[in-house]
Amino acid sequence: MIRGIYKYLAVMLLTMAVLISGCGNGNSDNASEADSNNTAATAEAKGQLTVKVLDVGQGDAILINTGEQVILIDTGDDKYREDNRKDEDNNQLFAALDKEGIKHIDKLIMTHAHADHIGKAAKVIKKYGVTELVHNGIPSASGAFRNALKAAKAQGTKQVKVKAGDVLDFGNGVSFKVLSPTTQIIENDTRDLQADKKVNVNNESIVGILTFGDFSMLLTGDAEKEIEKDLLAAYGNSLKCKVYKAPHHGSHTSSTFNYVKTVQPEYAIISCGTNNRYGHPHKETMQTLKKLNVNVLETDKSGTVTVITDGKTYSVKGEK
Ligand SMILES: [Zn+2]
Repeated sequence: MIRGIYKYLAVMLLTMAVLISGCGNGNSDNASEADSNNTAATAEAKGQLTVKVLDVGQGDAILINTGEQVILIDTGDDKYREDNRKDEDNNQLFAALDKEGIKHIDKLIMTHAHADHIGKAAKVIKKYGVTELVHNGIPSASGAFRNALKAAKAQGTKQVKVKAGDVLDFGNGVSFKVLSPTTQIIENDTRDLQADKKVNVNNESIVGILTFGDFSMLLTGDAEKEIEKDLLAAYGNSLKCKVYKAPHHGSHTSSTFNYVKTVQPEYAIISCGTNNRYGHPHKETMQTLKKLNVNVLETDKSGTVTVITDGKTYSVKGEK
């Protein structure tokens, strides 16, 4: 009986807490406000999570399907600008999305404002319809970024600005915890851009951990070593993940030894184009991954790389 009363009180308190937090006068564009009541972090893993690191040439485009939501992280570029095929149109993304039968995208996350990540964002918004456009809120002057915001406005797509500490609910028990950029990076770069000063756009990348049951994957955009150092200091061993999307296409600007050692991935996936003009992936990165016994798949050699997990076990396979 007494236990019953405690249970009743607990439910009452919880209900009140939810009601109170729901009354906050927050900014609806803010992800932590929007998702503060979600249960993604504690929800039980059910069904299947599929993550596809799509082969889109030199660039990033990662398709996530949780059974409840379709999320696209980056879109690759509109042209093969960085694959030494300069002016040729790049239609690999649309071909891949059509092959997957994608009709609508719930969340499009733009990690940072470089064209090899968001070159096709405006076209994706127009062609598929996007419920939420997620970005770091740094007011980039890049054409691809501005076109994406314009398309979002025209299509009635909600914009969600995220920063370190926010958690996005991807549905069916899948969550994405944002680790970077911090409020400080966002504020500094916003101020510097307004003063026409140069910023390191790669270090503005949205970095985060995708979690589903026991499975986790670190998504990194093009974040470089300075960010890796900050993340090591801020998160230490909680960076540990089963799968690692190597930052910056396997460049030696990133994947520092201590960082990869701390993440301790079983698999690394590198997204890069054949004959790309940067020589990605760099041999330093490949050596680090080899030394740490990480299995590596590259999209230029393996094509689209697919990760499938039920929250307990997982598989990683290239299409070729
Ligand atoms: Zn890039």
